[in-house]
Order: sequence, then structure tokens, then C-alpha cells
Amino acid sequence: MAILDKEHLRANLDEVIWNIEEARISVSEHHIVKLVTVAKYTELENISTLYELGQRAFGENQVQQLKERMHTLEELPLEWHMIGSLQKNKINNLIDLHPTLMQSLDSLDLTEELNKKLATKESKMNCLLQINAANEASKSGFSSEEAYDMYQTITESCPNINLKGVMTIGAHTEDSKEIQKSFETTHSIYENLQKEGATYCSMGMSSDYTLAIKCGSNLVRVGSALFK
Ligand SMILES: *Cc1c(COP(=O)(O)O)cnc(C)c1O
Repeated sequence: MAILDKEHLRANLDEVIWNIEEARISVSEHHIVKLVTVAKYTELENISTLYELGQRAFGENQVQQLKERMHTLEELPLEWHMIGSLQKNKINNLIDLHPTLMQSLDSLDLTEELNKKLATKESKMNCLLQINAANEASKSGFSSEEAYDMYQTITESCPNINLKGVMTIGAHTEDSKEIQKSFETTHSIYENLQKEGATYCSMGMSSDYTLAIKCGSNLVRVGSALFK
């Protein structure tokens, strides 16, 4: 972790934006992709600098760090995304933070608990269903087989959760064909869910965001490529 100067961050951001542009235009000029900066590895100062460079959406994977940063930077008009697995004992803390989007709804158990606590606080939360598209034991999330039905079940039975789409982490392998397959699987679930109101297909991190966009991602979560 280091505090990076503005020109250094500008060069990294320009490179990422350029790569996103190239990938999205290869899909369609009308294919718009949102960039969420994953700030979990970096210093607070770098978030402020990226804000000055035009970046507005930031993601964290821990509720405690999300809370500290939201409070410290509350004067800035930023959006905050929760992208990590949520422990049940942190649910109330997350609700009180009103994140823009909670991207990591990864089990029915967590979903029901979150819905219950949202109802108690008369609050709602925008969420994405996390899909374990490559069926990896190391990852949480809904299997690709159950995702479609679960999405409908949650929409019907959890009125305080606004499902906005799906999220996946690309298959953990060097084999880009396998990674591509996990993105294609997730994107086809997303396509089926568009009639249920899904608008976000969140796929792609530093190592694979251009591939993810070519597979239809419209939200990429990029960390290390911006802070190298
Ligand atoms: C850390 C993280 C990212 C960003 O990872 P990089 O490879 O550094 O871009 C994206 N999504 C999730 C869910 C993460 O935990």
C-alpha cells in the first residue's frame, strides 16, 4: 500500500478507461460499462485523488472499512458498493450505511436474514445475486443451475431486497477459455433475468475485465490495475 501521486493514478485510470472503451465498443457503441474502483487494497488518499480525476463509484469488501471510509469521505458525492461476503453479525452495520449496491448476496440464508433486518429498520437495499458460475468449492454464491429460480423466489419473498442483477468472480484459473465460460454462463442467466428487472451484470476484475466486457458485463470491479 502506498499513496500514489495524481499523475501516476491518472495514467493508471486512463489505461483502464481506454481498455474498457475498446472492449465495450467491440460489443456495441451502445454497450455502456460502469467502472467500480475496488479500494480495499489502497490508501484513503488515493480514493480522494481518483475522485478528483473523475471517478465516483468505489467498492469495499469489509463492512468496517466501508464504514470508516464512507464517514471520512462523506463530503464527497461518492457511491459505495459492498463486494465482499457479508457476515451475519455485520448486517445491521451495513444497513445503516445505505450502500448504493450490495453485490455479494451469496446464500439464501444470508438473504433471508438481511431481508428480516431490513424490514425491522423499514429500509431497503439494492443487491446483486452472486453466482458461483464455475462451481468452485473455494467460492460462495448460488450455483448457475439454481440462480434463475432463486432470483424469482427472493423477488417474491424478500420485499425489502431490490434485486438489480447478478455478480460473478471469474473462474480461478490461467485458462482463459474456462474464465470465458464462467462469464458466458453468468451472462446468459442475466439475459434471462432482464425480464425480471435485472439491469446489472457485474463481471470482471483487473486480470479479466476486458474479457468480461466482451462476454456482456456492464459493471467491472477493478482494484490492483489502478493502484500498481
Ligand atoms: C478484490 C476484488 C476485486 C478487485 O480485484 P482486482 O483483481 O484487484 O482488480 C473485484 N471483485 C471482488 C469481489 C473483489 O473481492
